[in-house]
Amino acid sequence: MANTVISLRGATKQFGGLVAVDNVSFDVREHEVLGLIGPNGSGKSTTLNLISGALPATDGEISLRGGTITGLPARQIARKGVSRTFQLVRLLPSMNVLENVMAGGVFGHRRRWGQSAERHAMQVLEKIGMADKAKAHVGQLTYIDTKRVELARALSGEPEVLLLDEWLAGLNPTELTEGIDLIHRLRDEGRTIILVEHVMDAIRSLCDNCVVMSSGKKIAEGTTDDVLSDPEVIRAYLGDDD
Ligand code: ADP
Ligand code: MG
Repeated sequence: MANTVISLRGATKQFGGLVAVDNVSFDVREHEVLGLIGPNGSGKSTTLNLISGALPATDGEISLRGGTITGLPARQIARKGVSRTFQLVRLLPSMNVLENVMAGGVFGHRRRWGQSAERHAMQVLEKIGMADKAKAHVGQLTYIDTKRVELARALSGEPEVLLLDEWLAGLNPTELTEGIDLIHRLRDEGRTIILVEHVMDAIRSLCDNCVVMSSGKKIAEGTTDDVLSDPEVIRAYLGDDD
């Protein structure tokens, strides 16, 4: 398909007897915000882990702009242009905010070093409203600020594709509005994003299309409006008692 950036074909991940991602295929097109949704434990984070190379797939093929990235280590995939945030924020605790963000530039798609990395990291921090905290220790940050820093780190590598794993989870209502605005800005810049999310307002306002997972399988895909009114999808969510 024209302008396909990420493509999964039969992606599968088994943990012992558990098939966490079961023969999943979908495409992500350039500038698309694709919602990857489904109940807890349905395999969303594992799918992101396969795309980012955090975990090797048991089977199937994953490609970036038509070239296979299946089995490549995470660092190489980041270099090729895929950056992510984690469901549980992972910052480097011994480094300050700026250094954490610079690390994303050093290991990212557009590699920068030294002063160039620092200048660019500051620009990214300004953009997400964190420039005044550049020298803060990450242990001193509020929860949303740790999330902002992790997003800044992902952006500092100038990725072609951004994978966000429940980036909005755990925010209070004011922070949530700000967070949705921030992702809207990224969307308006034309970034290609896979958004793993539970917040329905965010899914409705941000996602062009959605893929729905349940028990490791893709159970639906299509435009966000169609998917969210699909009875099978609604049933899958009602079965989620979290
Ligand atoms: P989601 O992100 O949709 O909540 P996950 O991808 O985190 O779901 O998990 C899918 C399933 O795989 C769950 O049953 C989870 O317990 C299991 N799982 C995830 N990661 C691992 C792992 N590293 N080892 C064993 N089981 C795992
Ligand atoms: Mg998850």
